[in-house]
Amino acid sequence: MTGILKKKKIAYFSMEIGLLSDIPSYAGGLGTLAGDTIKSSADLNLPLVAVTLISRRGYFRQELDYEGGQIEHSMEWNPSDLLVRLQAEVRVQIQNREVKVGAWQYSLQSPTGGEVPVLFLDTDLEGNSLDDRTITHHLYGGDESYRLKQEIILGIGGVRILDALSYEIRKYHLNEGQSGLLTLELLKRHAMDTEAVKELCVFTTHTPVKAGHDKFSYELVSDLLGDFIDADLLKRFGGADSLNMTHLALNLSNYVNGVAKRHRATSMEMFPGYEIHSITNGVHSFTWTCPCLQEIFDKYMPGWANEPEMLLRVNNSPDSEIWKAHMGAKRNLIDYVNKETNVNMDYETLTLGFARRATEYKRTAFIFTDLERLVRANRKGRIQVVLAGKAHPSDERGKEAIKNVFEIKNNLKDDIKIAYLQNYDMNLAAKMVSGVDVWLNTPLPPQEASGTSGMKAAHNGVINFSVLDGWWIEGWIEGVTGWSIGPEPGENVPYEEARKRELEDFYGKLEHVIIPMFYHRRDDWIKMMNNSIGMVASFFNSHRMMRRYVTEAYL
Ligand SMILES: *Cc1c(COP(=O)(O)O)cnc(C)c1O
Repeated sequence: MTGILKKKKIAYFSMEIGLLSDIPSYAGGLGTLAGDTIKSSADLNLPLVAVTLISRRGYFRQELDYEGGQIEHSMEWNPSDLLVRLQAEVRVQIQNREVKVGAWQYSLQSPTGGEVPVLFLDTDLEGNSLDDRTITHHLYGGDESYRLKQEIILGIGGVRILDALSYEIRKYHLNEGQSGLLTLELLKRHAMDTEAVKELCVFTTHTPVKAGHDKFSYELVSDLLGDFIDADLLKRFGGADSLNMTHLALNLSNYVNGVAKRHRATSMEMFPGYEIHSITNGVHSFTWTCPCLQEIFDKYMPGWANEPEMLLRVNNSPDSEIWKAHMGAKRNLIDYVNKETNVNMDYETLTLGFARRATEYKRTAFIFTDLERLVRANRKGRIQVVLAGKAHPSDERGKEAIKNVFEIKNNLKDDIKIAYLQNYDMNLAAKMVSGVDVWLNTPLPPQEASGTSGMKAAHNGVINFSVLDGWWIEGWIEGVTGWSIGPEPGENVPYEEARKRELEDFYGKLEHVIIPMFYHRRDDWIKMMNNSIGMVASFFNSHRMMRRYVTEAYL
């Protein structure tokens, strides 16, 4: 144990971490990426320690009423079922009060012998005021002040906990800006030497939209943080008008990463003057490959789980076995759909899947834009559609989008079977990305920084049909690895025209390419499934991503 502790670690900070569905301290893509990062680090024996908040009430459990109205339940869970309470305790000052911060540990262990400790910070401790005890309860809940308190706990409390546990840290990796305050704690520890702090920090930005970056008024900052840091200095790094966590992290990190090549380009436009790199995201291959396919990969490409590059030899496995495994995953999903809803789907119909946060730019109802054309395509060969996704509790338009899908689903029920499943989480994601035939992604470009669910789908031989944004620009070869929707980024098509082309592509390819191939050229279809595994999954995995972080960002 001491040996491991002596090894200088990468401290990986993330507001949310999704390791398994039973630890509900995650909301979506950012958290599952963090979880996959940790799993690959353990597999690769990297010296990493992760820090997050305990989120004792989780994000929320989503229930949908018969009209698609979202009901949010808090998710009580018992940390002691899965985590170990550590003795260490530190204090941080908030509004001149001392707030005690404790930690729970989950040790992620890999079959390779690697191990990554994950620390969950907790303020629900005796001695803290009732109010302070709730700081680490709700992920993405509460108002600005609540959020800033959480970020103080994560950034400042996190650095102090690592210290209290005697970790020696070689780099601090900020997974998105919410942990940005750790830079201030480091400044104080390094006699305000900004170069020393920058040398210690790696920042991954995830949001290509301005509104997506956390901002706090300096009034609130000074109310909560008091004189923790000199106000002028803070403004120099965090922005003149308000504290922008992305700016703070950008200004105090020597290595800044965007999560796909396109996202790097958008970020460089958004933040001129900064050098931004692009290590494109990946997913943890073993976690996101369904058991039926794992078995085949084990048989024909033994060792693939810790060396996903091997997946490029997927053609060594017989097509019939790949198809059989896929049908196993499909049955698993369709049975679940039929248990949860009354739509009565079947195993043979071409099944499209769409699941992501219900928020405007993700365009949940995109495929229902022209119902006549959808029904016409369906006459060429039947389709059925499985959707899922939570809307943030304060995102009214996201909630409207879900209701809208419910209405369309009822109107179309005699033509096309559609199910919107409730409570999209990691378990449901695993079922969906393996159990459909085609994975759809229709964000409004360039707002999808990367996206990762399509990479999960590819690991299962599920073919991507997506807007050219985020990672898909790098993974897409038309008709080989999947299909595109809408223009290429380089084409510079005007806004309205681009939206028109997206609809043309979607309905045109569905009717004339995808449906005919699925029903009449099954061999070609399976070839594309193999390409998804061999050409997409072999690259878009978090092992490759972490090897690159090590050689380019950490060393
Ligand atoms: C993978 C995953 C996401 C991210 O999917 P995107 O394609 O990036 O939107 C969100 N939520 C859950 C539960 C996931 O497993």
